[in-house]
Amino acid sequence: MNNTLLIVEDEPKLAKLLSNYLRQAGYEPEWLENGLDVLPRVRERMPALILLDLMLPGRDGVDICKDIRSFSTVPIIMVTARIEEIDRLLGLELGADDYICKPFSPREVVARVKAVLRRSADHMPSTMPPLVQLDEGRLLATIRGHQLELTVVEFKLLEFLSVNPGRIYGRDQLMDHIYPDQRIVSDRTIDSHIKNLRKKISGASPDTEIIHSVYGVGYKYDPQDKIIPSVNRG
Ligand code: CA
Repeated sequence: MNNTLLIVEDEPKLAKLLSNYLRQAGYEPEWLENGLDVLPRVRERMPALILLDLMLPGRDGVDICKDIRSFSTVPIIMVTARIEEIDRLLGLELGADDYICKPFSPREVVARVKAVLRRSADHMPSTMPPLVQLDEGRLLATIRGHQLELTVVEFKLLEFLSVNPGRIYGRDQLMDHIYPDQRIVSDRTIDSHIKNLRKKISGASPDTEIIHSVYGVGYKYDPQDKIIPSVNRG
């Protein structure tokens, strides 16, 4: 998941303070102090949100915001030194998502960042990453943005089950798929691979349960079923 927050701020102490608070809140802050560095950085890899100071060396926040809006809807929070400036900025219709005035409490900034990110996620459901992505070449599964390293068998099981969400497969079917050479393996082999796979998934994403055992029958992949709603512990 993209957790990168770009802090554009020419006061190092302030930038460091903000970085610490944002990191504690689970984000990955990156800091730039020169306005000229912002566009190249944003074009290279889009952050999840930008905290953009108004007065900057190189290029000011107003111009940077306009430039970014010409190609992206990335959430932008403008940071100004004077409360009177906010009215002027609103009048410019820059398309910033929020405005914060200095001096601010870092806690408040964290709260605003969360609120803006929540709002933009509500408006852009298409930017949500798919629940499960599989990379066969590297035996990697990405689940809700968390990357898992799988064994060959675990990968094959997840891939096979996920092709038909909701469909229940018996252990025999799964064994035929995993061991097409008719190798004799016990039912318990499948159970233990599934158990390990589920352990990896819940270890990476505790609120996600996607492989379900169906008593007496086998297993199914079902992302709709019994997903425990994620709890905001922030
Ligand atoms: Ca400044």
